[in-house]
Amino acid sequence: MIVAERKPLDEIVPLLGDCQKIMVVGCSECVTVCQAGGEKEVNTLAALLKLRGFGQVLTAVLNRQCDPEFIVDLDAELEGVDCILSMGCGVGVQFLAERYSHTWVLPALNTKFGGGAREAGVWEERCGFCGECILHLTGGICPIIRCSKSLLNGPCGGSQEGNCEIRDDVECAWQLIYDRLVALNRLDLLTEPLPPKDWSTARDGGPRRVERSDVKAV
Ligand code: SF4
Ligand code: SF4
Repeated sequence: MIVAERKPLDEIVPLLGDCQKIMVVGCSECVTVCQAGGEKEVNTLAALLKLRGFGQVLTAVLNRQCDPEFIVDLDAELEGVDCILSMGCGVGVQFLAERYSHTWVLPALNTKFGGGAREAGVWEERCGFCGECILHLTGGICPIIRCSKSLLNGPCGGSQEGNCEIRDDVECAWQLIYDRLVALNRLDLLTEPLPPKDWSTARDGGPRRVERSDVKAV
């Protein structure tokens, strides 16, 4: 899931400028799960904005902001709206801005990463969306995103007692990989260095696009 958190109110208010009529739009997917942009958070933000003097604050929660078939639900709600304040992730903000090209669309969240819940209220990054997954070589532990240096052949010299040199509360990804491969009796996977990764599938090659003929409408 995408993990995000709301910008501080003191950062959101100046973004709104002179807008009088504001539509706060939530999303029922990832940002609901991480309690950043679901119905409850939309209503909370709307109430806070009213306390800050914004007179007309409307609310809506879409099934998904990253899917045009659900965005159309907003079409009939935007009469006279000065700006849309999206509580979706960065993808949702951009999909709204694309559809409503003549309406000012603002982000209310800071989109953090792709990850999952470690415990209630704690989320950790797990995938950097590199486009060519190598978890089969690393015991199911991602060196791209969990190693602070994205090393394909670690650990580096900073690994100390299982922790990464960047902080005591960050486990060394390569220690985790080693321990897991020992447990699986698959240390053979570490006898040969991993080859250089083909980063052309990652973000560095520019905006990516996935096309699947089996999913496209016929
Ligand atoms: S190897 Fe790439 S696709 Fe696989 S988990 Fe890591 S970043 Fe994500
Ligand atoms: S200590 Fe481990 S996780 Fe940290 S940068 Fe070095 S190899 Fe990567």
